[in-house]
Amino acid sequence: MQNGCLISSSAAALLLGLTAAAAEPPAPVDPPRRYEQILEIDLEGDTAALDLSIAPVYDAREWAFSARWDDCNLNSLTMREHMARVGLKGTFYLTQNDKADRFGPAFCRQLMQDGCSIGGHSMTHPRLTELSAGQIWWELCANRINREDDTDTTLNSLAFPYGLFRDDARPEAFPIITEAVRRAGYHHCVYATFVRDNPHLAPGECSTSWQVVPGDRVVDAEAFAAQLAKPVERWPESYRKLSHGLHLGVHPWQQGEEWAKLDAVFQTIAGRPEWWYCSLTEWAAYARQAATARLQIDTASSTATRRRVVITRAHPGDLGDAVPLTCLARGTAVRAARLDGQPIDLRRQGDATILNLPHRPSLSPPRRVGHIEIPAEADTADARRDGADFPGLRATILTEAGRLTLTLEAPATADLSDIHVRFRLPLAFQPGVVTCTATALPAGQAIALTADLPAPHPDPAWTAGPRYWVAEINATLAQEPIRLFVTRLQP
Ligand SMILES: [Zn+2]
Repeated sequence: MQNGCLISSSAAALLLGLTAAAAEPPAPVDPPRRYEQILEIDLEGDTAALDLSIAPVYDAREWAFSARWDDCNLNSLTMREHMARVGLKGTFYLTQNDKADRFGPAFCRQLMQDGCSIGGHSMTHPRLTELSAGQIWWELCANRINREDDTDTTLNSLAFPYGLFRDDARPEAFPIITEAVRRAGYHHCVYATFVRDNPHLAPGECSTSWQVVPGDRVVDAEAFAAQLAKPVERWPESYRKLSHGLHLGVHPWQQGEEWAKLDAVFQTIAGRPEWWYCSLTEWAAYARQAATARLQIDTASSTATRRRVVITRAHPGDLGDAVPLTCLARGTAVRAARLDGQPIDLRRQGDATILNLPHRPSLSPPRRVGHIEIPAEADTADARRDGADFPGLRATILTEAGRLTLTLEAPATADLSDIHVRFRLPLAFQPGVVTCTATALPAGQAIALTADLPAPHPDPAWTAGPRYWVAEINATLAQEPIRLFVTRLQP
């Protein structure tokens, strides 16, 4: 079986965009899969008065509050414990494991207790602005893939090593690094300055949050309180124009008596009912679904006291978490609501009724993630390999004659279904993400999915360095949502 791939409509828009005015923002390079749900709302009064909107924070809280702690550091385990005591959650940004295997899957599992998560921080912690396009791409994308494999979770948030993403002496670094972030599958960055006024990002493509720093080595409660007061008390509306998220950071370097000082700071920010305490993975997932969801009132099928709303929303596997979408109903009182026929709990808050809408139960982020690395010298589709995570599920990825081919073979004992493939291409190629779908692959059978490679970028800055080829396969295997990466690094 041979299936060709289409460039997604937004990628086609990107190609068209190249001929448009320079001020035109780019289209998103890696839009999420979408699906529809039907929301029915029974109203006390006039349906025409209903004003329905999407809340910027889950459960209509005032702020999302999280934490960001960087690097492979055993002190992160202590940090997580101190946060958990007061109900704080956060995300640990990790590079690759070390040679002594101290920071592998077991370390991740310890960090992920009590709702914390893992984020990307590059493979080797380089100064990204000094690297070739090929190296930048591998540093960011391979890190995400390896850590998803380690944790069996999705990574959607990124922290740049040293916070470096631009260099005035090397102006091409900023667009190249931005492009690597977009096509690697990250859609949240802890650096607000990366997201704000970045002309290389599409509107709403990448979310962020505001950082507040208690002190990496020496905790300074007074300075922290003054920093936090800026977004929370002094200028909330101007901060919220960019993000409704706040996070602690940056390094878990505290020792001795500094822990007690940090505990005292944590006491001042814990237990606020108006804040959503979340990991940055959850915040990123919520921010992306709020930016991409569409509510369409179906006037034809609505009655005098009942509104029918079609909700188009992103697949939780492409958001990174299945956090519900919060809608606000204003203008007229809500008596009851059903999502795909299931009753929804209602809560009044001020002049609004809050509806938290869960994803369709059959859709979720992958519960297991695997990775098959194909050696650079492999040259035929027969070189299919097994991954440790899914025995019998074999694959290879090859480039030849201007085409990229993924060969996928289902295990002898289980069908593979709902197959969705993203080819994440090296930065030399535009568009950067090419998608393919296949409905089902019966047990023991193989399929070849191909994508024609666009012409390489004319600017050598974009083609320099190694080529890292990536196929990200989302599918259902024996009723379980899985993700398999098939990669190949050509020096
Ligand atoms: Zn770091």
